[in-house]
Amino acid sequence: MARLIIMGPPGSGKGTQAEHIARHFAVPAISTGDLFRTHVREGTDLGAEAGRYMDRGEFVPDHVTTAMLRERLEKDDAGAGFLLDGYPRTVAQVGALDDLLAVRKQSLEIVLALAVSDDDLIGRMLQRAREQGRSDDTETVIQRRLELYREETQAVIAAYSQRGILISVDGSGDRDSITANAIAAVESGLAGQ
Ligand code: ADP
Repeated sequence: MARLIIMGPPGSGKGTQAEHIARHFAVPAISTGDLFRTHVREGTDLGAEAGRYMDRGEFVPDHVTTAMLRERLEKDDAGAGFLLDGYPRTVAQVGALDDLLAVRKQSLEIVLALAVSDDDLIGRMLQRAREQGRSDDTETVIQRRLELYREETQAVIAAYSQRGILISVDGSGDRDSITANAIAAVESGLAGQ
């Protein structure tokens, strides 16, 4: 049983790492970005609302995001743990997640932060734009996402660091060794709790 969060700037590879790490710990990887993209693809009302923000690199409003996450956490597969990717991104969302977990008498165990330099990030995102055609991977939108990460999401990392549950892992280099380092770091963090 593990309740984990993975954090990292846009382009840090956290989505890919999340999939591998979640598989190792046998918990679902829950990505709010992916949940939104599914809504956009399926043409739901929520997708129409979220898409307007995503295409500009802005955050989708907290109440929309948190309601969607609450619903996802209620599914059976999340009962035994989860790895959140992309939530919380604001200090308000940190509080909202605390409330969601308190209702279930659950707590977070480890927050894993991937550290990657800005140059690497932009290069990776432009490459991803070529490969996957994500509509928010244009240069202006990328800059806005990085800016919001610095302005809003760094404070989330600081909050978890203060709680003593943050583990930082070098996110540059080859994908498999980042995964191996991240898994080892989470395992030793869990063992120390
Ligand atoms: P990245 O980390 O590369 O920006 P994500 O797939 O995690 O990509 O998120 C894509 C977009 O989805 C964000 O730019 C934002 O518009 C929206 N989004 C995802 N998670 C959240 C969240 N927790 N709060 C608000 N908006 C979110």
